[in-house]
Amino acid sequence: MALDQQRDEMISVLKDRGITDHAVLQAMHDVPREDFVLPSFRDDAYADSALPLTHKQTISQPLIVALMTQIMELQPSDRVLEIGTGSGYAAAVLGQLAKEVITVERIGDLAITAAETIRKLGKRNVHMRFGDGLKGWPDDGPYDAIAVAAGGDRVPNALFDQLAIGGRLVIPLGPRQDSQKLIRIRKIGEDRYVEDDFGGVRFVPLLPETD
Ligand code: SAH
Repeated sequence: MALDQQRDEMISVLKDRGITDHAVLQAMHDVPREDFVLPSFRDDAYADSALPLTHKQTISQPLIVALMTQIMELQPSDRVLEIGTGSGYAAAVLGQLAKEVITVERIGDLAITAAETIRKLGKRNVHMRFGDGLKGWPDDGPYDAIAVAAGGDRVPNALFDQLAIGGRLVIPLGPRQDSQKLIRIRKIGEDRYVEDDFGGVRFVPLLPETD
């Protein structure tokens, strides 16, 4: 099947599985996932599954990218922080909906490849940063929304500080990889938060900077 047919197929799977926000479906349609996967996986780019990247990392499953994006409730004026760029795919999707995306990756090779893919696609509102996302990226904050694309047992403190009031933070939380839940935390005042649970997920671990 041709890639654009497979892309349409993916969109109908996303609809069937609870993605109802039209802007999110449009963004998932418009970002070419085949450009973000390793060349040997191009033909699988629109299967609804995570795929391997280098350095034992993965590009997230389309449904999870769409769900995270949907529950972030993005507005066109929003500034977004993503921790865990990986391939850059989710950052590009977020960039379709928000004003600006800052995305942080701790593995230099992945950061370089993702920056190159994003540059080639002409996504000028997506900005790559290399470093430890456990610290967030204070220089560009506060953010209207934060997505953490790797799992941990708690939210790094710095991220609470860098979230604007009214902002939404989405993160897979759980003591082990097989017991993570996708959690959204909405900041409703200084030190006041509301939490919602969006069910079981499986992400690679959030780790400190290498070196
Ligand atoms: N959003 C990505 C998938 C992310 S996989 C995509 O669309 O392809 C999780 C990524 O988080 C990996 O690339 C991993 O290296 C990165 N990561 C893990 N801990 C991190 C940290 N402390 N700071 C920044 N990136 C981190």
